[in-house]
Amino acid sequence: MSEQQSSRGQQSVVDDLYAESHHWHLNTGEETIHAKRIGGKWRKIRWATASFWLLFFFGPYLQWGDRQAILFDIPNRQFHILGMTILPQDFWMLSLTLLFFALLLAVATAMAGRVFCGFFCFQTVWTDVFTWLENILEGAPPKRRKLDKAPLDFNKIRIKLTKHLVWLLISVMTGISFVAWFYGAFELWADLFSLQVGTVALATIGLFTAGTYVLAGYMREQACFWLCPYARIQGVMIDKTTVVPTYDFHRGEPRGRIKKGEKASERTTGDCIDCKQCIAVCPTGVDIRHGQQEGCIMCALCIDACDEVMDKVGRPKGLIRYESYEALETQQKPKPIWLRPRVWVYTGIMTAALIGIALGLNSLDALELKVIHARQPLFVLQSDGSIQNKYTLKILNKMTEDVPVTVSATGPEGLLLVDADQEITARNGKVTARTVFVRVPRENLVQENSPLVFRIEGNTGNDVLTSERKSVFIGPSR
Ligand code: SF4
Ligand code: SF4
Repeated sequence: MSEQQSSRGQQSVVDDLYAESHHWHLNTGEETIHAKRIGGKWRKIRWATASFWLLFFFGPYLQWGDRQAILFDIPNRQFHILGMTILPQDFWMLSLTLLFFALLLAVATAMAGRVFCGFFCFQTVWTDVFTWLENILEGAPPKRRKLDKAPLDFNKIRIKLTKHLVWLLISVMTGISFVAWFYGAFELWADLFSLQVGTVALATIGLFTAGTYVLAGYMREQACFWLCPYARIQGVMIDKTTVVPTYDFHRGEPRGRIKKGEKASERTTGDCIDCKQCIAVCPTGVDIRHGQQEGCIMCALCIDACDEVMDKVGRPKGLIRYESYEALETQQKPKPIWLRPRVWVYTGIMTAALIGIALGLNSLDALELKVIHARQPLFVLQSDGSIQNKYTLKILNKMTEDVPVTVSATGPEGLLLVDADQEITARNGKVTARTVFVRVPRENLVQENSPLVFRIEGNTGNDVLTSERKSVFIGPSR
């Protein structure tokens, strides 16, 4: 193909792009953005990361043993996670988990900007799904704009009604799925069908349904602008070394349209042909050629758009690409991630949090024993000359069934456990308290405070569970 022929072919492609470009302009918030949807590498990655949210919808139906695999049982103040029961006293692990995720967000932002917003955030993911459905039902952006302006007739009502019903269905499913994590998925459906679901659950479903419908269907990117605090604070986490979707102004400028019949060798402008495709696909209506802006959620869709244009006009891809400002300014290779002290500090704290969580999970017993020594009085001298101490045993049963428990104790010679010969029924998911007395002949006490160990043994029928707790036996001073 001669240079003239190939330039004629490109010209028609470019003419199409320019014919379309007058539709695309910056979002100032006063109208709905109808972003163009195209394929590409980043679009595929976005779908893949968004599919993580399928877990939100299907997770509550997964079972572990005879219970929902993950159930946040707020009324009984218990979290059941894959066979483990976490009670309020174990909630320090929740703090470590929150710390871990907060730092993960900070590390991700320091390294790759608002990668959470662009690829994982429920607001952007739900909005993406809602606009994808809008695209299917109402057509590409020009058709959608035309439909918005068209008078209300049967066709418009039919299309709009279908769209809103589908949106509403997703919103209701979002509300139900959210509540299912706390209520139990199967019980929730049963109670919904038998109209026995409680007011709190019903109100929560209603709130989430309305929230999803309004935020993803109407507010869309405006929720990121006006409601999201993370959009505000990310500015302090990003620096010049952060790798973000960036327009290469060295290559692109001076931008200029390809003139009719112009050969590639005759062009005096930069690689940006000012087709505005990067704005067309942007879900927030940002023109990335103006540099980093608050509205950019870093979804990288403009990279796909520009790469496609570069392919069509026969120029190298990457005019918009993931790059740091430092690398772009200095035209040097960016500093490797492991040379940034901030990343090491974050990673150190995250590792410590992970170790803490792992140790905590490892120390979770199905039966837990706590021992409280009575303070008033510390000991009692019995008529037979022995010394008696009083203890309150608190047995925490994290299982789903009641367990019969026996108590024993080891300590000073001649130790006698009083009021502990009968089995204690440790109630499931609860703390069962029992007062016991320990007597020791005075002559066997060689010190004021003698070590003492209580042990409980629970028999589940299939398994014998034990738990021990150190305490002290107090006698008169010698
Ligand atoms: S940056 Fe790329 S997509 Fe955007 S206007 Fe320039 S050539 Fe078109
Ligand atoms: S400018 Fe690019 S990366 Fe930023 S939101 Fe728009 S399409 Fe996504």
